[in-house]
Amino acid sequence: MRVALLFGSFNPIHEGHLAILRYLAEHRLADELRLVVSPQSPFKQGRGLLDNARERLAAARAAVAGTGLPVAVSDVEFDLPEPRYTIDTLRYLARTEPDKEFVLVMGGDNIVSLGNWHLAGELLHEFEVWVYPRPGTDARPYVDALNARPGTRGVMLFDEAPQHDISSTEIRARQILQYDVIIIGGGITGVGVARDCALRGLKAVLVERDDLTVGASGRNHGLLHSGARYAMGDPESARECIGENRILKQIAPHCIDPCDGLFVTLPEDDLGYQQQFVTACRAAGIDAEAIDPREACRIEPSVNPALVGAVRVPDAAVDPFRLVFANALDAAAQGAEILSYHEVRGLRKDGRRVVGIDVWDVRGKQEKHLEAPVVVNAAGSWAGQVAAMAGARITMYPDKGTLLVFGSRLNQLVLNRCRPSSDADILVPSGETTILGTTSQRLEPREIPGARPTPEEVDLLLSEGSKLAPELMQTRILRAYSGIRPLIALDGAEAGGRGISRSFVLFDHETRDDVPGLITIAGGKMMTYRLMAERTVDLVCRKLGREVACTTAQTPLPEAIVRPERFGGAVICECENVREDEIRYAIDQLGARTLLDLRRRTRVGMGSCQGQFCALRAAQMLPDPDVHSFINERWKGTYPVAWGEVLREAQLAQWMYKKSENQSRSHSS
Ligand SMILES: Cc1cc2nc3c(=O)[nH]c(=O)nc-3n(C[C@H](O)[C@H](O)[C@H](O)COP(=O)(O)OP(=O)(O)OC[C@H]3O[C@@H](n4cnc5c(N)ncnc54)[C@H](O)[C@@H]3O)c2cc1C
Repeated sequence: MRVALLFGSFNPIHEGHLAILRYLAEHRLADELRLVVSPQSPFKQGRGLLDNARERLAAARAAVAGTGLPVAVSDVEFDLPEPRYTIDTLRYLARTEPDKEFVLVMGGDNIVSLGNWHLAGELLHEFEVWVYPRPGTDARPYVDALNARPGTRGVMLFDEAPQHDISSTEIRARQILQYDVIIIGGGITGVGVARDCALRGLKAVLVERDDLTVGASGRNHGLLHSGARYAMGDPESARECIGENRILKQIAPHCIDPCDGLFVTLPEDDLGYQQQFVTACRAAGIDAEAIDPREACRIEPSVNPALVGAVRVPDAAVDPFRLVFANALDAAAQGAEILSYHEVRGLRKDGRRVVGIDVWDVRGKQEKHLEAPVVVNAAGSWAGQVAAMAGARITMYPDKGTLLVFGSRLNQLVLNRCRPSSDADILVPSGETTILGTTSQRLEPREIPGARPTPEEVDLLLSEGSKLAPELMQTRILRAYSGIRPLIALDGAEAGGRGISRSFVLFDHETRDDVPGLITIAGGKMMTYRLMAERTVDLVCRKLGREVACTTAQTPLPEAIVRPERFGGAVICECENVREDEIRYAIDQLGARTLLDLRRRTRVGMGSCQGQFCALRAAQMLPDPDVHSFINERWKGTYPVAWGEVLREAQLAQWMYKKSENQSRSHSS
């Protein structure tokens, strides 16, 4: 017996839901239809579900009247110990009603993001998914991609089912919010664009589906390139880097450790390369100076003493989190709205023109509709998906890179191998830790959600990295993580996979795809974000007919969040010296609600104890600490390097969390 499940709040039940129920019933696709109130539904709170059930059920039954199909409302989630995800409910139903086969029915707009759901892989392995179309969304490529995943039971698209914009009636009734420009994506690119727009007097809003920095901007190496790395192969990028390196040192000194860097030649490398390298650096305007290997050992005692050559360059280390939040803070101070936990689910169009976005407010649990004459797509590796919502095509080449974090600061200068770019050839000092990276592996967009460090990558990083600084082998590893580089195909080169840009790409979809109102900015590097934003906002201004000069190269970023000595109160996180007042500031001014939010804003739990001693202390100050998600994230980073000491510490941490959880349970009972 097959039961088709529709999740939602169903209050009130929409024409769109009824239309799809009628379609399923008329085509006898299931033996029973069931409405399930979604785990996040506000109606779950206060058990309002049951009060509304009769009304919804009556409407649903009337819709399928005459087909003889039973319709029910499922309130199973109340019995789940901790219902969090759709899959929990599906598994619960499958367990308690083993004679039935449950199928998840969802709208085409939701399937677009299903690949990113937590546990999406398991859901697709265990359950069939049926998809009905939604106006403005072409679900077919997503359905095909999910079906191509090994083990997927089956995702079926009912192309011919009635298309009904479930949200339209509600949205029309609501106020439509108007802006000059909407920015999609809360990575460094998006916040840089938002700040630049605000400084030029544009009314801007930025929407990010999760927290700021959850994409590549919070999962990179933190190197403020001098450009030397690109001098041989990509002089244009090298020039961009050195220009921005100098500007960022001026406008964001509080986010940067101006430590300089060394490019080191080891006995197995070609010393002839070093001379060409120095010449190329100088041609790109980078101060590169070859120094005696003995001098290199003196200024950087951690470097492999067997080195045969060294070049000093103005590389530096940058704190990506501080840089993003400083930009967001200033954007907001200049009048921009920053809406994190707002997911773009569709682009509003008038003919071919993009006129706004439909967003789901994840925490407020409501749909919102925003309009602006220009929408900037700064969605990083997901830029292709956002462009597709408007019918424009971009080819992204997501590229996974894995990094290792060590528990102490080994090197004072950034260490690079002086050879053509390869794996594990950069060691960046990061506060009291050291980050070794990176690797490079091309992914399919559908593989992004599952991208994690592998044991092979960890081995490779360790064996190659320890050639640069042998002491690495004796240094405690804190965690491993992977980020996705949002590499993008250049126009005209998509077909052969040639021409993938390592620099940034700005697409005006009006001239490129006949989709006015949409601009995409992607690729590049974190450290070139300001220049990327400048070029983007120049284009935005031209489109709006309001040409105002860019001032971001001269306007310093605010320092408030990045001077720990400014904050007082008891020390909460010893490793990162985070005090009570900084946590209060992060909650009140930077919107932190959970431990993960707090970690990104203050570095709580990022030091050598990895939150073992401070997480529970900090949790007590937060409105919604969500310790479980924090531990989960922490474990994801520890797992790939969990052997010896690290494993023992992870076990100790687990024991401590369990114990304190039991204590708080017994206190509350
Ligand atoms: C391993 C690695 C190492 C790197 N090292 C360095 C380095 O040392 N120095 C350097 O300068 N650069 C480095 N980079 C590159 C740099 O990290 C990226 O170029 C940069 O962070 C990209 O920023 P972004 O804002 O464009 O993308 P992201 O930071 O990925 O932001 C895109 C955002 O869009 C959001 N989004 C997507 N879809 C939606 C939607 N539908 N609705 C709302 N929001 C949405 C995502 O949640 C995400 O937060 C590295 C990258 C990697 C992967």
